[in-house]
Amino acid sequence: MQYRDPNRPARPSPRARQNQRVQQIRQLRTVLLVCAVIIAVLAVAVTVFAVRSHRMTDTDIVQEKAYASLSAAFASEQAAREQEGASYQAQLDEQSKAHASEKDALEATISDLNRQLSVKQAAATGPSSGSGSSGSSDLSQKTIYLTFDDGPSPRTPEILKILDKYGVKATFFVINGGKYNQYMKDIVNAGHAIALHSYTHSYSTIYASESAYFDDLQKISDVVYEQTGVRTKLIRFPGGSSNTVSRKYSSGIMTRLTKQVESKGYVYFDWNLSSGDADGNRVPAQTLINNCRKVPRSNSVIVLMHDASVKKTTVEALPSIIEYYKNAGCKFAKLTESSPTAHQRVNN
Ligand SMILES: [Zn+2]
Repeated sequence: MQYRDPNRPARPSPRARQNQRVQQIRQLRTVLLVCAVIIAVLAVAVTVFAVRSHRMTDTDIVQEKAYASLSAAFASEQAAREQEGASYQAQLDEQSKAHASEKDALEATISDLNRQLSVKQAAATGPSSGSGSSGSSDLSQKTIYLTFDDGPSPRTPEILKILDKYGVKATFFVINGGKYNQYMKDIVNAGHAIALHSYTHSYSTIYASESAYFDDLQKISDVVYEQTGVRTKLIRFPGGSSNTVSRKYSSGIMTRLTKQVESKGYVYFDWNLSSGDADGNRVPAQTLINNCRKVPRSNSVIVLMHDASVKKTTVEALPSIIEYYKNAGCKFAKLTESSPTAHQRVNN
């Protein structure tokens, strides 16, 4: 009799064991199938991801290329515009320069025309102060004030001789004539008026500033005083009060100077008849004579002439000029502080 432990399960039969093994194999197959499915799904997912990321990279490259090409196009367009802008600006600068120089030229022309007008107005309406402001075409009513600028010079004795011959008194607006300054005394001794023009007669010097002008004026005043003992207050601006050349050195200086000289007690004179001897150094004597016959309506005629070595034809013309006025019944006089001044219009 075989012992059998009651706690020990009974040994399965071979048939039951076979059934159990079949069941285990089925379970294993199911697990393997599930694993295969999972692997397949993962593989598909990885493939899809890889393909998609690859496509994005291609798109990015294409976009990047497009962007780079656009940037290059933009940069080149911008450079072209900048260049165009610069050349346009240069053109504008050129044009504005041309306009500025045109404007300067026009202003100079206007100034010159104004100056000519000033001289003509002074001739037509007469001197702005003093007696004889009325005018007529009757020469016998006129007083002639012959004036000589820029002396003394080698011509001074010749001029004095002619004036003496005709018994005519005149006015000399003098500069520093160096060794000819000795003739200043002859001018005064002959009974003519000596008056101040300039020491240097250098526009750039005297019209640089008011103080420069007055320094120069004081110097010629001192020379005249040393030579003649006369301290005169009669003056004439180089170029006249209507000159426009002074603008080059100081804008508005003539406007200031014409007021300041008067406030300092000077009397400045212009002219209302020009002999024309300032137009050149060898203006024919006959031209000067003809010019001096164009007598303004004013009864006070201040005639502009020059006393300089190069003004030979002025000396040649002088006798005929004096004779013309004498024959017409004109009177002659030298300028004094109360004489007509023939002021022209100030243009600077
Ligand atoms: Zn002068």
